[in-house]
Amino acid sequence: MNFHEYQAKDLFASYGVPVPAGTIARTPDEAVIAAQGLGGQMWVVKAQVHAGGRGKAGGVKVVRGLDEVRAEANRMLSMTVTTYQTGGRAMPVDSVLIAEAIDIETELYLSALIDRVNRCVTFMGSAAGGVDIEHVAATEPEKIVTVTVDNTAGFQAYQARQMGFGMGLSARHVKQLAQIMSALYKLFIDKDLSLLEVNPLIIDGDDNLIALDAKINMDDNALFRHPDLAAMRDEAQEDPTEAAASRHGLNYITLDGNIACMVNGAGLAMATMDVVKLNGGEPANFLDVGGGTNAARVKEAFKIILSGESVEAILVNIFGGIVRCDLIAEGIIAAVEEVGVSVPVIVRLEGTKVDEGRQLLADSGLAIISASDLNDAAQKAVAAAKNSGVVQ
Ligand code: GDP
Ligand code: MN
Repeated sequence: MNFHEYQAKDLFASYGVPVPAGTIARTPDEAVIAAQGLGGQMWVVKAQVHAGGRGKAGGVKVVRGLDEVRAEANRMLSMTVTTYQTGGRAMPVDSVLIAEAIDIETELYLSALIDRVNRCVTFMGSAAGGVDIEHVAATEPEKIVTVTVDNTAGFQAYQARQMGFGMGLSARHVKQLAQIMSALYKLFIDKDLSLLEVNPLIIDGDDNLIALDAKINMDDNALFRHPDLAAMRDEAQEDPTEAAASRHGLNYITLDGNIACMVNGAGLAMATMDVVKLNGGEPANFLDVGGGTNAARVKEAFKIILSGESVEAILVNIFGGIVRCDLIAEGIIAAVEEVGVSVPVIVRLEGTKVDEGRQLLADSGLAIISASDLNDAAQKAVAAAKNSGVVQ
């Protein structure tokens, strides 16, 4: 699950990480009141969307005077933000953060993530912070300092020194960095985060480190033990199809291709996408309908798949281990009849009660294309997508 910048900054603040003072606003009036409450003559208006890269997309503006606060808040609240991080989606701006404007001396970069190779949390930092860290990582990786935290020992002060001196910071800033990294590590572990990014972490006019931006992502599987964080979910920022799928307990991710996949089991779903690609096709989604799926879930899955506009064929790949293929076949038939599927449906069934399942599909009278194995199914799906002639 993703969070807004203001939510992440509230968490940072509660762990003692310095952030600029700020207030969230949902209307231009609220924005003006927020600015008055903060005091001063200069503020930053920041569009709250679940994506970085807002600065370049007109979603971060330094303003002077209350009229400019109102005008910028009004402009941002009526726009959508599309950045290189939104995957082509236009994100609605339902709120803006009004923050005190900070003098920036230096922009640094700091992040923490789950390091799957070392099975721990790893910090990454760079003196080359600001908006273009991806470019730095691609062209000058030596400018990124990495520190791996031992799970048992936890974060150690010497690691902050490694990071800080590696980034070329002074002793004063290394000391501040140690306090920030230690607090962020605690936050990361306490809240089951999977990613935490501060870009930029800045040195301000008073020579202090402050988190000017904040991005966090947490492991959805841990949401059940963090009701306070679960309550911060903003579905308006999510892909509508993915949000609908999650309400039905389906594990769904939208992709760019035209062959929709419906599979039971995440591993089999990944393998299905691989074999589709191997045969020259492009998957329209990842969908794991779960191990113990039933006809009702198959029907919901069809509805969700078909809400994707670019779908030109549906590939159903079910291995009946716990589930019975005849029940799945009934679900497919009910779904195709009820939902009104207009694109070719290719079905590969294998496992428990497979003969009964195949017989049901054959007897249904519906235009369902049966496949003998996964490769056969992928080939048929790729061919069907090419010929389906759906106008996009
Ligand atoms: P992002 O583009 O979505 O990552 O948004 P950020 O919050 O990182 O802001 C983008 C850029 O705007 C920062 O790198 C800063 O250069 C600038 N910026 C943001 N807040 C302030 C501020 O308080 N004062 C000044 N001078 N610049 C700011
Ligand atoms: Mn940023």
